[in-house]
Amino acid sequence: MEKAKDYDLIVVGAGPAGMTAGMYGVRSGLETLVIEKGICGGLSNEAPEIENYPGFKKVRGMELAEKMKEQVSEYVEIREQEKVEKIERSGQDNDLVVFTEKGSYVTRAAVISTGTKHRRLGVKGEAEFLGKGISYCATCDGFFFRDKSVIVVGGGDSAVREALYLKNIGCEVTLIHRRGKLRAEQHLQKNLEKAGVRILWNSVVKEIRGDKAVRSITRFDKDRGIEDELSVEGVFISIGEEPVNELAAQMGIKTNDNGYIIVDKNQRTNIKRVYAAGDITGGVRQIVVACAEGAIAATSAYNDLQENR
Ligand code: NAP
Repeated sequence: MEKAKDYDLIVVGAGPAGMTAGMYGVRSGLETLVIEKGICGGLSNEAPEIENYPGFKKVRGMELAEKMKEQVSEYVEIREQEKVEKIERSGQDNDLVVFTEKGSYVTRAAVISTGTKHRRLGVKGEAEFLGKGISYCATCDGFFFRDKSVIVVGGGDSAVREALYLKNIGCEVTLIHRRGKLRAEQHLQKNLEKAGVRILWNSVVKEIRGDKAVRSITRFDKDRGIEDELSVEGVFISIGEEPVNELAAQMGIKTNDNGYIIVDKNQRTNIKRVYAAGDITGGVRQIVVACAEGAIAATSAYNDLQENR
């Protein structure tokens, strides 16, 4: 175990929000540390293409995350592959103790930017065939399905982007959506039409079947009221996200009915000197918003700590 070291600000999670909070923390003069259980970038790493982050006409999610890391690391130490297990009050001056799998750290303030994780479909075969034809990330796994028949489940921005990416690398793509209308932005819908991606409307995946790998899915066609079986080799599930809020729950941070952390306009939570930023706060889940919230959270921490000196 490492010996506890004192910080002014610890940021938990190094997606776009956390990295930005770390950079703003140091630049405002706070002794800051960023801790990340995986690698920098979070789910933004999985975005095949980002076209709405100002300054970049078109950039791969992973490339943008790498650029952010390169810039932010010039200011702040980022500890990757270190999971924060709990955060407790130290009992002195409202300080916090951050316990990770590798050690513990004392800090005067914390930003929670733990983001979201992929929602599961919850059907038979989903767990069994994970990594054997089922994926939640087209940019990570799409390559293995070139020239093969795949389905993408979902109707939001992510599903449409994944479908376009897969089509572009040469997969035979069918999008399956539970309603008769997509929720993805109009621009993406037009691209989907242009690319000629087949869409099965009002359709629900009931089961994913196979032997050693995925071979087919059972689909319920709501319009016709019947089930049928479609042969596929890949199933890309892209039906939204859920907040990674275990730390928030453990600390007694207030969340809304969907589990997203409630913050005020300065990113303060209900707990003194604890802030939240990025997708974990729900709302408009865009990289540009996550970065902005990270900047505001670190600035609020700085302001609150100044008042308490
Ligand atoms: P989302 O917008 O929440 O869409 C989820 C989709 O999955 C919806 O179409 C939903 O259907 C469907 N769905 C949910 N649960 C389902 C279930 N159990 N079975 C079948 N279908 C289900 O999620 P997202 O597309 O991952 O996007 C998340 C956020 O990131 C959004 O705010 C989005 O704007 C943002 N994002 C933006 C971009 C971009 O390029 N600008 C790219 C990716 C993500 P219904 O429509 O019927 O509810």
